[in-house]
Amino acid sequence: MIDGTGEHGRPADVAIEGGNIAAVGDLDGWRAETVLRATGLTVAPGFIDMHTHSDLALLLNPRAESKLRQGVTTEVIGQCGYSPAPAPAGRREAIRSHFGAWGQEVTWTWGSFGDYVSALRENGTSVNVVPVVGHSIVRAGVMGEDNRSASETDLAQLREAVAQALSEGAFGLSTGLIYAPGMFADTDELVAVAETLSPVGGIYFSHIRSENTALHEAIYEAIEIGRRAGVRVHISHLKAEGRANWGQTERVLAAIDKARTEGVDVGFDVYPYDAWNTSLAQLLPAWARVGGAAEIIGRLTDGETRARLLAEIAAEAEADPGRWGRRLLSSVTTDANRPLQGQTLAAIAEERGCSAPEVVLDLLVEERLDAGMVGFAMCEDDVRRVLSHPLATIGSDSASQAPYGILGESHPHPRTYGTFARVLGHYARDEQLFSLEEGVAKMTSRAADRLGLSDRGRLVPGAAADIVVFDADTVSDAATYENPHQYARGIRWVIVNGVVELDGEHHQDRRPGQVLPPPGQ
Ligand SMILES: [Zn+2]
Repeated sequence: MIDGTGEHGRPADVAIEGGNIAAVGDLDGWRAETVLRATGLTVAPGFIDMHTHSDLALLLNPRAESKLRQGVTTEVIGQCGYSPAPAPAGRREAIRSHFGAWGQEVTWTWGSFGDYVSALRENGTSVNVVPVVGHSIVRAGVMGEDNRSASETDLAQLREAVAQALSEGAFGLSTGLIYAPGMFADTDELVAVAETLSPVGGIYFSHIRSENTALHEAIYEAIEIGRRAGVRVHISHLKAEGRANWGQTERVLAAIDKARTEGVDVGFDVYPYDAWNTSLAQLLPAWARVGGAAEIIGRLTDGETRARLLAEIAAEAEADPGRWGRRLLSSVTTDANRPLQGQTLAAIAEERGCSAPEVVLDLLVEERLDAGMVGFAMCEDDVRRVLSHPLATIGSDSASQAPYGILGESHPHPRTYGTFARVLGHYARDEQLFSLEEGVAKMTSRAADRLGLSDRGRLVPGAAADIVVFDADTVSDAATYENPHQYARGIRWVIVNGVVELDGEHHQDRRPGQVLPPPGQ
């Protein structure tokens, strides 16, 4: 048994009563209705996925297959500035359009954040959920999609909307400062909005303004927001992107350590891969991403604007030779383009007999902007340095998916299926980057402590019975960039709130997950 604290594993029995852990230790004389014989296996607290985009996926398929089958029992949703709520009446369709095909697929019944949380709860989920409200969506609801600064009136409304979401179940606020419209906010706006977190102890999660050339400035901005607003800061998927920035994680981690000694409570999460995954539209310059989907698509087809876009995208790629061969088209939503999923943009350009920038614009039009890409842009040394830092928590940066149904039509980054098993199998066991106990602690107690979940993340009496039982010798990720819809291996049982939800290969679909209340609510 590994208790989640980082302490050495030891032989022990675990007794569950109701949804909680009743006892841990030598329980020889105990009687139980059900006994799971885990001899030779490792029993650990269920894993906490600190950074996910399962907001709609859990409504489309509440079984959370790709996550549960890695041992994940809690998902933090609403990240990178995007939560499906609040979606005020007049802005609902515009907000819905931020969620692509899945946004059209769900029955969109909610307006307020509280209504969305109720919808999740009523639908049921296999895993627990920690909801976070997204700044881009709040801003879209108050100010629309334009590139402008917030006025005093806007600020008051933004703050009110965030405070409302916090009172209706949000654990914090997330920003996505490379995505429209969140990227149009300046630091002062973010401080003003983050201040609403302070009275309730909410967390400021941030996909920071740059993960490449302006990485340091972006880290300092996040720290400054924490300092000025008096809130905890959590940096999402920490990395150094682009060859010119490789090695920068050393300085970045030092800046984080220093901020902590100065009293700003900064933490971060990371995924164990050297490629990122984002929307294809991110290849467009900022000016072209203003105004919402219809306006953006209009620019891609307008002769003069299109020519300007092609020139800018090509110029940017020139600084990064070979870029198009390191960018895979991940998910699309049209049947016509589905065979292209998993191919590089260079290969698609060759096949179509045009340039890569033309392919980018054409695909965005054909897919109504709803297309993803994977980029190989980080170096292994940085991935290892960030993962092994004692503050690291683990976030898959992905939605729960499944190899069947509408979720199975996509071509996701393998992290969707492999993140947690990869940390345990590849990095802890095979590479010995850290001990198995330390790997488990990153996914359990460290994450629970960041979130203020005092009754999760540790196998101790009284804690919620979120438990994973795995084979430490065989646990591994099977998903690849070519073939991503592959479940992790070596996970034997997953128990959520005392209910066995995964029994070997068999998903029980009893939906024991809860939408967790923020600390103090
Ligand atoms: Zn992000």
